[in-house]
Amino acid sequence: MPFNIAIVGAGLAGPALALELLRFPEITTRIYELRPEGYEQGQHISLAPNALRVLRNLGVYEKLTAIGNSYEELHLRNSIGGYIATFHNGHKRDYGFAAMRIHRRHVQRVLCEEAIARGVQIIHGMKLVKVTERSRDKGVELLFGNGQTESADMVVGTDGLHSAVRQYVQPGADSIYAHMLGVTGFLSKKDLYNQGDGIELPSHFIGRNGFLAVMPSDLSGNEIGFFSTMEFPEEKSREEWNALFHDKNKIRTILTERFGMEQDWAQLIESIGKTAPDETLCTWPFYVAPPLSSWSSASNRALILGDAAHAMIPTGGLGASLALEDTECLALALSSIIGKGFTDKRLGRVLDAWEAHRKVRLKLIQDFTDRNRRMRQPGGSPIAQVIKEWVLWAALRFVPSGRIAGPIYSYDTTDFKNILSTLDL
Ligand SMILES: Cc1cc2nc3c(=O)[nH]c(=O)nc-3n(C[C@H](O)[C@H](O)[C@H](O)COP(=O)(O)OP(=O)(O)OC[C@H]3O[C@@H](n4cnc5c(N)ncnc54)[C@H](O)[C@@H]3O)c2cc1C
Repeated sequence: MPFNIAIVGAGLAGPALALELLRFPEITTRIYELRPEGYEQGQHISLAPNALRVLRNLGVYEKLTAIGNSYEELHLRNSIGGYIATFHNGHKRDYGFAAMRIHRRHVQRVLCEEAIARGVQIIHGMKLVKVTERSRDKGVELLFGNGQTESADMVVGTDGLHSAVRQYVQPGADSIYAHMLGVTGFLSKKDLYNQGDGIELPSHFIGRNGFLAVMPSDLSGNEIGFFSTMEFPEEKSREEWNALFHDKNKIRTILTERFGMEQDWAQLIESIGKTAPDETLCTWPFYVAPPLSSWSSASNRALILGDAAHAMIPTGGLGASLALEDTECLALALSSIIGKGFTDKRLGRVLDAWEAHRKVRLKLIQDFTDRNRRMRQPGGSPIAQVIKEWVLWAALRFVPSGRIAGPIYSYDTTDFKNILSTLDL
């Protein structure tokens, strides 16, 4: 009998994991997704080389390059558009891949379509509400909001920020508000002030009273996405956040108050808040996963990965990369016990090694994310702003991007394979 894994959540990590595991006929998967089929929400994301490497290995990279905007150089600028430095967000020669800016929904759709085409079943409208473990070595029972139950040898929660599987692995481990808000939107290149005001994109504008990224986000370069990450002390209820998401006037006010002062911001930036169509404007309160002592249950029959395990604020642009890497490593870990028997004990050994390895990656990426958050923080006097710009200039002039991001973007699974080969299974 094949080992049967229930995957909860068909975001990015869920279908990626199913595709990874298709390599092993001894393991079968089925995905349960809360949302109805065709549901599309989200925002543009950047896929770093470490994400694209996984997606290439899964056979979907070519499809994504026909949709997203590939770029290598990301320019850092001050609020009036003055050049500070250039950061390589990806680099074909150095990392094997340029970076890609693309709407998250395309990545999700392409992954799900590929999984379905290759025989994976994705069942929509299935909200997991409860996990129960059967006795030793006997797997799990899943209860869904519609009253349906399903059983499996193991459940993997790829159910994102507010994971239900996390609540089983560590009861009460709710996500934590990070006191930050993301504001995103997009407009067409022709509606951008003077088609860009001569300012080369993609660019991140780091001003004294805020941060705004402006990035071409489709293959043609005609769709220009923008996002700002900002401090937002007040936590709201779920209903209030929803109300803010739908209040496009309010979102526009947040943008124009911050970026609408002509003397402070390049006209390109100022015009964005005024001209981006209502329906493109969105807000994203940033919540993070709480620190967790373990990502799997005591018996190792329930585990979490991706945002369910380690959602972080997106100032490093690496949440999806980390989730995709998780899936690649988990598939390797599970495959190492094929033919030996999937006992609780053996699962424990490989999953402990997997989690320890992944937590080293998590720390590296969290540090990078935190550095970026600090860099974008507003405040300070005009002099402090000038010093910040010089420090950024010097940092990237004397410490090339590769030294900063190389260990993140160049990741492959060689080290983890070596770790697995030393385990006594
Ligand atoms: C504003 C913003 C910008 C971002 N920018 C970037 C970026 O530039 N680069 C980057 O790499 N990352 C970025 N991220 C982070 C990235 O989107 C996430 O890290 C990534 O989507 C995580 O993938 P996942 O599969 O773990 O979770 P998700 O993509 O969140 O998928 C979770 C899935 O589980 C489903 N689900 C939830 N609960 C249940 C349940 N109880 N039962 C069944 N199904 C359930 C959901 O409907 C969803 O489909 C950004 C995030 C935000 C909010």
